[in-house]
Amino acid sequence: DPVLSLKGIEKRYNAGQPNEIAVLRGASVEVKRGEVVALVAPSGAGKSTLLHIAGLLDTPDAGEVAVAGEVLSAKSDRRRTILRRQEVGFIYQFHHLLPEFTAAENIVLPQLANGVPRAEAEARAADLLESVGVGPRGGHRPAALSGGEQQRVAFCRAMANAPKLLLADEPTGNLDPTTSDTVFDALMRLVHDTGLSALIATHNLELASRMDRQVRMDEGQLVPL
Ligand code: ADP
Ligand code: ADP
Repeated sequence: DPVLSLKGIEKRYNAGQPNEIAVLRGASVEVKRGEVVALVAPSGAGKSTLLHIAGLLDTPDAGEVAVAGEVLSAKSDRRRTILRRQEVGFIYQFHHLLPEFTAAENIVLPQLANGVPRAEAEARAADLLESVGVGPRGGHRPAALSGGEQQRVAFCRAMANAPKLLLADEPTGNLDPTTSDTVFDALMRLVHDTGLSALIATHNLELASRMDRQVRMDEGQLVPL
């Protein structure tokens, strides 16, 4: 089974109003196990809407969503939340780390929320930070870290509960080109080393070309780039 399967997804906003907008009009995509797919879309095309639906944060008006082999259309909100917490990791353009906690604690907390014992959670946080080259910075709060370091910590947090699916929205979009490049490499290594599947939205065609496959959003549908 693919790790993510979206079939014929439709989503409109402001239905029945003069400002009604049909953002997704039959969008379909599959992400296989271990595959990293680039989602290329101009601003406003509906990429956040698509990622939120794929990440079980929002529901489509029509179409089928399956994550980790489980079809969601018929699932309760409770099941949706459980699947989201266990199987999906999110990375945004801005890190959204909790400022009052250290880098390591930001990776420990989602594990504690998932019932992982503290010692185990701390060991995993240390391993993850090490794997992206910020091991020595684990005791610092986000504000003391560089933009590239903050974003790497955000990757680790997304991976904290060993999700099957990683969803990223312009994960290096707020970094300068050189840092973006290094940080993107760290992300790709982390993803490939863990056999994770990912759907990564980017405007950057060069970064997109380094992923396994590329799809483009065109009039609410997804087509090969
Ligand atoms: P992208 O992430 O590609 O910039 P979005 O998915 O955020 O695009 O938005 C796609 C379109 O849908 C935009 O025109 C946006 O203004 C509109 N939109 C997004 N969310 C809402 C909402 N909650 N209510 C109304 N319109 C929305
Ligand atoms: P928690 O376990 O903290 O309650 P949730 O299940 O609410 O987390 O959310 C899981 C993931 O989805 C988190 O990474 C969170 O940042 C993200 N998230 C939650 N709500 C939204 C939202 N409205 N928009 C974007 N991301 C969200």
